[in-house]
Amino acid sequence: MDSLKIEPTAPGTAADRTEWKFSEILADPEIRARWEKVRNYFFLRESTYDMTNRCNIRCDGCYYYEGRKQFADENKDPAAWRKLMRAEKVRGITYVVLAGAEPSLVPELCEVCHREMPLGSIASNGLKRIPASVNYKIHISVWGNDQTSLKVRKAPNMLRKQIKNYKDDPRAVFVYTYTRENIDQAHEVAEALSAQECMLTFNVFSAPVGYEGPLRHTAESLGRTRKSMIELLSMYPDHILFSHYNVVAHTHRKSLHDLYACSYPRMNPSTDIGLGRSFRQYRADLTWDRDVACCVPDTDCSDCRHYAAGSAVVTARLFRHASSPETFKAWLDYVDTYLAVWVMGYEKGPNLTRSLVPPPGQALF
Ligand code: SF4
Ligand code: SF4
Repeated sequence: MDSLKIEPTAPGTAADRTEWKFSEILADPEIRARWEKVRNYFFLRESTYDMTNRCNIRCDGCYYYEGRKQFADENKDPAAWRKLMRAEKVRGITYVVLAGAEPSLVPELCEVCHREMPLGSIASNGLKRIPASVNYKIHISVWGNDQTSLKVRKAPNMLRKQIKNYKDDPRAVFVYTYTRENIDQAHEVAEALSAQECMLTFNVFSAPVGYEGPLRHTAESLGRTRKSMIELLSMYPDHILFSHYNVVAHTHRKSLHDLYACSYPRMNPSTDIGLGRSFRQYRADLTWDRDVACCVPDTDCSDCRHYAAGSAVVTARLFRHASSPETFKAWLDYVDTYLAVWVMGYEKGPNLTRSLVPPPGQALF
C-alpha cells in the first residue's frame, strides 16, 4: 500500500495551517476558476425514474431485482410520463436519471422525458442503442471482461457489443464496476476502451440488502481496487473521468453513508432542504415511497460506495470540504468529475490535486 500514501508537503507551507477562511482558499486563482466553473451547475435538482421492470439480461447482484420496486406495473402511456415530467418541473426538478430495469427497452418513453426535461442521464447495459434524439448522458455498465460478463451477466461478447453501439457517441460514459472478483480485469477493459476513444469512469459494487455473495467487497479487495484505480488514472488520463478524491471516497473501508452522512430521503428524515426535500425515486408505475427513496434503492447503506450515490452525497458536503485549500481542491475535483460524467456538454478540467486527501474528520482508508 506504499503507493497510497499522501504526497508529502514541504514544512512551512500553506499545508501547515489549520484554519482557513473561504475567501483565503478562493484567493488561489486555480481554485477560484474551478469553483466558478462548477457553481454554474448548482441549480441541478435530480430525481430518478424506473422506466420499465424488464431487462434483456439478468445479472447476479442486480439491486433492481431486490425489494418491491420490480413488482410495480409498468406505465407505458407516454401521456402519463409527459404529465409526470411537467409536474416534476413545477416541483423544481431540473435533472432526471432514467434507470431500472433497462431503459433502452422503452425508447419512446425516454424520448418523452427528454422532450420535457432536457438534462439527464440513462443507466443502460448498452446492448440496445438508445436513439440519438435522446440527448442524455448514457452510462453503460461494465462488470469485467467478456468472460466475466458471460458468467455474471449471462451475456456473450458484451464489451464488444457495447463499444459497437456507442463508439464515437458523446453521450456515452462506460462505467466499470469493480467487484471483489474483477479487479485485475480493469486494465484490459480500460485499454480496450481507450483504444476506441471511449470515455470511462469507475463504480464500486455496493451490495444489495442481504447480499453476501462473492461480488461483495472486503477491506483487502477495496485496497486492491484503490491501487488499480490510481494506476489506471495515471495510464489513461485522457479517457478516464475520475480523480484521486473519487478514489479515496469510493474505496474507503467505511461506506459513503458512514463517511459523509447520506442525504437521500431514505437515510435523511429532513424534509426542509436539499435532497431530503426534493428527491423522489419513481417506480415503473409512477408511484414513489419516501421511506425507500434513494438513487440506488435496496442497496445496503453500510456497503454503499456506488458512484451515483457519491455524486450527490459527496458533492452535498461543500462546507465540510472548505477547510483548507487541499481539501477543497479534492472536493472540486470530485464535483468536476461528477459533472463531466452526468451532464451533456460539460468538459472535465485537469484534476487540481494528485494527493490522496482523507475525507473530513476521517482516516485515509
Ligand atoms: S443490466 Fe442492469 S437492470 Fe438488467 S439485470 Fe443487469 S444490473 Fe439489473
Ligand atoms: S444506499 Fe447509498 S445512496 Fe441509498 S440511502 Fe443508502 S447510503 Fe444513501
